Amino acid sequence: MQDVNKKVEIGQDVDNKIVVIGAGIIGVTAALNLIREGYHVTLLDRDKPGESCSFGNAGLLAMSSFEPNVGISTLMSSPKWLLDPKGPLSIRWRYFHKLLPWLFSYVRACFSKKIASNAQALHGLTRSSLELYQQLVKTAGCESLVKKSDYLQVYRSKAEFDKAEAGMQSRRNEGYKVDVLEANTIKKLEPALSEQFSYGHQIHDHGYITDPGELLTCLHKQFLSEGGQFEQANVTDIKASHLHCQIICDGKSYHCSQMVLATGAFSKLLAKKIGEKVPLETERGYHETCHAPGVSISRPIMDGDRKFMATPMSMGLRFAGTVELAGVDAPKNPRRFKVLNRNAKEMISGLNTTDSSTWMGFRSTLPDSLPVICRSSAFPNIIYAFGHQHLGLTCAPKTAQLVTDLICGRIPSIDIAAFDIKRFK
Ligand SMILES: Cc1cc2nc3c(=O)[nH]c(=O)nc-3n(C[C@H](O)[C@H](O)[C@H](O)COP(=O)(O)OP(=O)(O)OC[C@H]3O[C@@H](n4cnc5c(N)ncnc54)[C@H](O)[C@@H]3O)c2cc1C
Repeated sequence: MQDVNKKVEIGQDVDNKIVVIGAGIIGVTAALNLIREGYHVTLLDRDKPGESCSFGNAGLLAMSSFEPNVGISTLMSSPKWLLDPKGPLSIRWRYFHKLLPWLFSYVRACFSKKIASNAQALHGLTRSSLELYQQLVKTAGCESLVKKSDYLQVYRSKAEFDKAEAGMQSRRNEGYKVDVLEANTIKKLEPALSEQFSYGHQIHDHGYITDPGELLTCLHKQFLSEGGQFEQANVTDIKASHLHCQIICDGKSYHCSQMVLATGAFSKLLAKKIGEKVPLETERGYHETCHAPGVSISRPIMDGDRKFMATPMSMGLRFAGTVELAGVDAPKNPRRFKVLNRNAKEMISGLNTTDSSTWMGFRSTLPDSLPVICRSSAFPNIIYAFGHQHLGLTCAPKTAQLVTDLICGRIPSIDIAAFDIKRFK
């Protein structure tokens, strides 16, 4: 067996070297923070930056969406969602047997006594998102990508509105201003919204990203301009000791004293290489961006019944969301695109979808809906940062700070016990 404690990169010391694997929004923001701490940082990704899940999301900085996607109400709604062809959830039944262990853990998490404390922990990651992004884009010279805004959640039925009210009350309890909207106010705020929506919430003081792909590109460029290195490389293996990591890619190895694993939905495979098991699944999500929509909206709007967002972005009007449980290997599902297209047209009157682009991405999700942000229990010089489910864009800047605290050996600025991988042992 290779002695990974040996500093194999001839003539170079690895003490100050960090490798971050994964150039999605989590990896790029972490790499940028780390370079600012004086480390020599190499960022690795098998793709070019800006081609991951972080490229195609709905762009919402969902600071008040701190309630985990678990609970008896979510569980009870799942069969209805699955049966509704326009609904937000689908399962590829050929994948079902592989999904079962995760589903069991998910159902257990729905009855957990920790849901309330987990929500508090998640809020620690989401609450400062807008402010932290404003700082990041200022230094990177791309301020126009972050927009301060309210957002709407609208419903066709009173029953869906009532269900959402409990969550909205938790937000109000945390100091967020959430107004209840009647049909005529909804129409006044957003004239392009279809008449179907009779109930709504207006959630104030949030923000959104006007082009998530461009944000990633911009932060990545900033990382390079501050001395960071990027290499396009597919990581196939990791060998580690407590002092040294060797990261093996097709045809090349990288050596460092500490590394960060931020490979989103693919982190399970790489964690396994260092002997760590984690019940990570993917919730695949879809988007359609209409480049000449013919109508406009003024803020992000969530269809509260069908669980997708419409966001006014710089490249067009993007409809993004829904969940497909089908693993990382199955091809895109054309039926999900059709459903999203139909739902978008039903949501926005007069929408033109002829000049559109479509996309599918892999959210990485743990059964309790919290990410893993911690030291590896196998090797303390490996830091994990993955599993941010529907909130990775929102949580990235705070996650990056926590990763940096861990790498620097500082006490993290918030309690991160809830994000420890040991919770699955
Ligand atoms: C439809 C949709 C809408 C969404 N809307 C929102 C929203 O409005 N707000 C919000 O906060 N979040 C949203 N999200 C979630 C958010 O996009 C994700 O949580 C976030 O992008 C995850 O970032 P990441 O860096 O962890 O992973 P990714 O962006 O997936 O990056 C992981 C990177 O790791 C690389 N990688 C994987 N394996 C290897 C390997 N072996 N070697 C080298 N590189 C590797 C991949 O190429 C990839 O670039 C949405 C997601 C979807 C799908």
